[in-house]
Amino acid sequence: MISLRNVSKFYYNKGVIATGFAKVNLDFAIGEFVAITGESGSGKSTLLSVISGLDTYEEGEMYVNGKETSHYLEKDWEKYRRENIAIIYQNFNLINSYTVYQNIELVLTLNGVKRQDRHEKVMSLLKQVDLEKYKRTKVSKLSGGQKQRVAIARALAKETPIIIADEPTGNLDKDSAEAIIKLLSEVAKNKLVIVVTHNYEQIAPYATRKITMHDGKILEDKKIKEFTKIDNYNVASIKEIALGDKINLGVRNTFNVLPKFLLLFFVYAFVVSSLMSEYSSFKKEEYEESRNGENYVFSNADDKRIIVTKKDRSAFSEKEIENIENYKNVNYVVKNDVLVDKQLNLFNKQTSLWVSGNVDDLDNFKGKVDVGREAKDSNEVVILGSKDDYYLGTNAENMLNGEYYISDSYEENSDYSYAIKVVGIKYLPEDQYVDYTIYLSDEILDKFLFKNNVDSSTVTIDFMNKFYEVDQYNSQFKIVNSDDVPEGEVYISSDLNYLCPNEVCLGQKMNILVDNIYFKDQKELAITKVYDKDNFNSLIMIPNYDKKNFENLYNGRLYVNSSDYYKLFDHGIFQMSVFVDDAIHVDKVKRLLEKDYKLIVIKDTLSNDVILQIIKIFKMISTVVSVIVLFFISYFVIRLILKSRNMYFSIVRMLGGTKKTAKDLLIIELLVVSNLAYFFFVGLAYFDKNGLNVLEAVNKYFLIKDYVILYLIICLMSYLISQRYARKLFKDSVMNTYREEV
Ligand code: ADP
Ligand code: MG
Repeated sequence: MISLRNVSKFYYNKGVIATGFAKVNLDFAIGEFVAITGESGSGKSTLLSVISGLDTYEEGEMYVNGKETSHYLEKDWEKYRRENIAIIYQNFNLINSYTVYQNIELVLTLNGVKRQDRHEKVMSLLKQVDLEKYKRTKVSKLSGGQKQRVAIARALAKETPIIIADEPTGNLDKDSAEAIIKLLSEVAKNKLVIVVTHNYEQIAPYATRKITMHDGKILEDKKIKEFTKIDNYNVASIKEIALGDKINLGVRNTFNVLPKFLLLFFVYAFVVSSLMSEYSSFKKEEYEESRNGENYVFSNADDKRIIVTKKDRSAFSEKEIENIENYKNVNYVVKNDVLVDKQLNLFNKQTSLWVSGNVDDLDNFKGKVDVGREAKDSNEVVILGSKDDYYLGTNAENMLNGEYYISDSYEENSDYSYAIKVVGIKYLPEDQYVDYTIYLSDEILDKFLFKNNVDSSTVTIDFMNKFYEVDQYNSQFKIVNSDDVPEGEVYISSDLNYLCPNEVCLGQKMNILVDNIYFKDQKELAITKVYDKDNFNSLIMIPNYDKKNFENLYNGRLYVNSSDYYKLFDHGIFQMSVFVDDAIHVDKVKRLLEKDYKLIVIKDTLSNDVILQIIKIFKMISTVVSVIVLFFISYFVIRLILKSRNMYFSIVRMLGGTKKTAKDLLIIELLVVSNLAYFFFVGLAYFDKNGLNVLEAVNKYFLIKDYVILYLIICLMSYLISQRYARKLFKDSVMNTYREEV
């Protein structure tokens, strides 16, 4: 079966060449029970390593079934070992953290035996070596004799034609030693058994041949008794380990040695938390910068605001609005948002107190007022502002008791100033200094909204085949709403009569045209009354009618019913502002919206100066550099921890595990630990919203995307580490890797 022709094995060690054995000629056949003896250092172990394909030889030829092996690559040796060789060691080489059952099962698992078959096989082997009682016992708790029985059972698990034992009784007392040799002789029928021993007498009753070595040479090769040579033997059938088994094994290895697991977990926890804090501080930085910009177009430059219009400039349907309101991360929607950018003035005619601020809908007012009460009536408002403010702070009581008007112009007697009452004041958090916000009822807001619509439209009067553009500041053709005028009618002043045939306009028609970027509309009205200085107040009721100023205040105007006029502009909602719950989510909401709508994202319109951009790039570079540094630090630490696994992987390899299997086991193990560490921190960040600074930042600034990126970095790191470690583990022969450890 195996033939050695002038085979030599040398060790090169720090420039010194040592001879393991030299010019050895031996032939072995299946059926033999060979005892090899010789003093320590004579080359017995070296010979076994070469025969079992665990180590290389330097000289001569070794034949397996008549075939030369000098051209064998590592994978050919791997196959040779897996099919032919089972080894029993003096120091057992069991996996101490595994149970007896698991140790025997491992060799079957590594060689692709299915779970059900494994169980049966392991149980019958346990019976054979009389260890059934100990199947759940950790190997480390067994006596030497028991350990060697486990090793024998393991050697028998795979039905190889060759069993090699290197001083299997060297660590055992006399009785155990005899029992082990007896067991070995019983189980090894019809195999080639090669046993190295110091104590030939123990083996003598079973041996068919005795080889004595001395100083790396064969001193004697003596036949002791006849044996039946077996020519038709089977090699062990081997398959690749199943994926499920690999995963099971990898997971088991993760938790098997608790200190190792804790150490690895600790390192990964460090890596994950450092990465998270580095990454989140970068995100935070980025976020802070994005909101520090300037914007000169929109007076409400809230970085959470997105202005939305439809691509075709049509009005939003109820359904669309509702849809947008229900988007995740959308806090609220301001329909018809023109008022968001509007500053209104609040003034008191008596005290000439005058403040201006942003406006918002009372419906959006959140929290409780600090002074006064909530608004109830449509003419009541609540103001949000700083406590340090002169009017809102020390003079809050005066503010609440005064009579105010609210207007969009600076003239007190504007057509659009409304009497209101300030009933409540709410203070901003201490460190915030922003403009006042005046919270108004829908009713008042609608009035300003309407005014805005009028302001942003071109209103034209089509009268007697001529067009007159309406100008707010020109009293000629200025349209005024009055509920004294019935719907469908218009009252004009008598000085327009000259435009009509025979200077009689009564009974004529007048057309109001509205045109803006969103729509065009028109309404035809009948002239049913013509007023002058004398009959004016009997047609249009005006309190404190100022007849003397008739020319200035009333003449030339068109009085129409409010609803006629409002309807001309009431064509739905064309522009809304979506307010996102947090600026960090703006991009997410933007992505949802931009498919269907035209957007102005305030955050993106804020301009930063160049210096800030450069600083940002440097920060990015420093983040990347620190991630790389972190990577290498943790890589070396993890490698140090993994060194303790060399022994395990050497054993796996001796038992027939391939490089790929070992690598995969390692990957699985590192992935399990890294995932645990990762999700541990993600969980902490999720549940502990007000806890540690780092976690809070993670919670606040991380998007799903960031979690995924971080996750991939950590998985990639685990992969690279196991890849490199496995390469190192397998770059040498099994024995060299093993020796480094023992
Ligand atoms: P035995 O098993 O008979 O005690 P070995 O096979 O272990 O002997 O050793 C044979 C010779 O090879 C000895 O001289 C020993 O010093 C040398 N040797 C064994 N292993 C190594 C090694 N890893 N590096 C250098 N020399 C070695
Ligand atoms: Mg030895």
